[in-house]
Amino acid sequence: MLRGTNQELGRPHNRRIVLEAIRQRGPISRAEIARGVGLTVQTVSTISSELLERGFISLSPGKPKGRGFPAPSLEVNPGGACACGIYVTPRGIEAGLIDLSGELFGRRTLRETQISADRAFECISEMVADLVQGWPEDRVIGVGLAIPGPFDIESMSFVGPTTMQTWRGVDVHERLKAAVPFPVFVELDSAAAAHGERLYGIGDRLTNFYYLFLGVGLGGSIIYDGRVMRGAWGNAGEIGHIPLVPGGEPCSCGNNGCLERYISLEAYDRRVAEIGEEAWLEEIAPIFRAAIVTIENMFDPEAVVLGGLAPVELRRKLLGLTDELPNSLAAREDRKVARVVLSDGGSEAVIRGAASLAVSRLFSPQPLMADERPGKNSDPFDRSSEEENVA
Ligand SMILES: [Zn+2]
Repeated sequence: MLRGTNQELGRPHNRRIVLEAIRQRGPISRAEIARGVGLTVQTVSTISSELLERGFISLSPGKPKGRGFPAPSLEVNPGGACACGIYVTPRGIEAGLIDLSGELFGRRTLRETQISADRAFECISEMVADLVQGWPEDRVIGVGLAIPGPFDIESMSFVGPTTMQTWRGVDVHERLKAAVPFPVFVELDSAAAAHGERLYGIGDRLTNFYYLFLGVGLGGSIIYDGRVMRGAWGNAGEIGHIPLVPGGEPCSCGNNGCLERYISLEAYDRRVAEIGEEAWLEEIAPIFRAAIVTIENMFDPEAVVLGGLAPVELRRKLLGLTDELPNSLAAREDRKVARVVLSDGGSEAVIRGAASLAVSRLFSPQPLMADERPGKNSDPFDRSSEEENVA
C-alpha cells in the first residue's frame, strides 16, 4: 500500500490513500488500513467517517477472527458516485455511465459519420443530462471524453478515414467544459482504454504494461508504474504511424508503410474484401510480430495487452500470430504472464476508460494521468471548488 502523511496539509492525499486502500483491499478494517498506509487509527477513523458520510464507502460487520470481537470492515460503495464516459469517433458518439465498481450501464449510441464538433457537443450535452438523471449532482464526479489520436498533428490528426476530419482547431477540453456542468477530462481513446484497464482490468495484476489499441486506426498507450505515460503532448505510445514496412503502402500522413495501413480495422475491412481473412492474417503476421517486438524493446513491459475496438474473435486470431514471436527484451525465463494477452476490449472499454479518468480523482493518491495538475479539478472533496467548477 502507498503511505500517508501525518501533516495536516496532506489531508487530501491521505483521503485518497485511504480510499485506494479500501478499493484494493476491501473489506478491510480501520486498524488494517492504518497499519498498511502508516497513519494513526485516529486519522483513518476521521477520514473514513467523512467517506461514509459522502457515501463513497460502506461499513459492514467484520468477520469474527479467533476469540476477539470482530472489527467493522470498510468497502467501496459502488452506488456512492458515478461518472460519464463519452467516445467520439468518425462513426458517431457512444456514451455510458459507470459506478465506483466500474460497472457500465445506460449505454447511448448515436450513429453519424464524421459528425461536426458543433453538433457533437450539442448531443453530448443532451446525452450526459439524460444519463445522470436521478443522480444527486454531488455524486456525479465528472465526465471523461475519449477521441481518436493522435492529438493535434497537422499531417495526421484530421486527415483520412480514421480521424475526425472537421475537428481541426477545436479546443475539445474547453468545448466539453462549456457543454456539461461537471469536471471534465479529455484523453485519446487508447489512453482512456488503458486507464480503464489499469483501474478495472489487468491493472490489479500488472503495473507496467503496454495497451495496444486496435481501432479504426492503430494506437496504444503505456502504463508505467501504474500511471498512463502521456508524453509531451499526450501522444506517447501512438504507434500507428511507425513506418515499419520500407517502401510500403502510402499513408495519409505522407509517409509509406505505416503500421496502421496494415493492422487496423480500416486495413482489415479494405484488405479482407480484396484477399480474404486468411490471406490477410498471413500477410500481416510478420509485421504484427515486428510491432510487438518493437514495443517490447522500447518499453520493457510486463506484457502487451491486446485491446481496442476490434471484436474479440479478431483479436484472438491476432493473438494466435504471437505463438512464435522473435526474440526481444521480453523473452525472459522468469515471466509471470504471456508476452501478449487479451483485454476484454470493445467500445465499452473506451467508455469505461473515459469515465474512469473522473473516478481516479477520488482514488488515486498519485494522479493516474502523469500530467494531472493539482487544483480544483483534482479534489472532489473540496465543495467550494466544486461550486467553482459548476459555475
Ligand atoms: Zn502514416
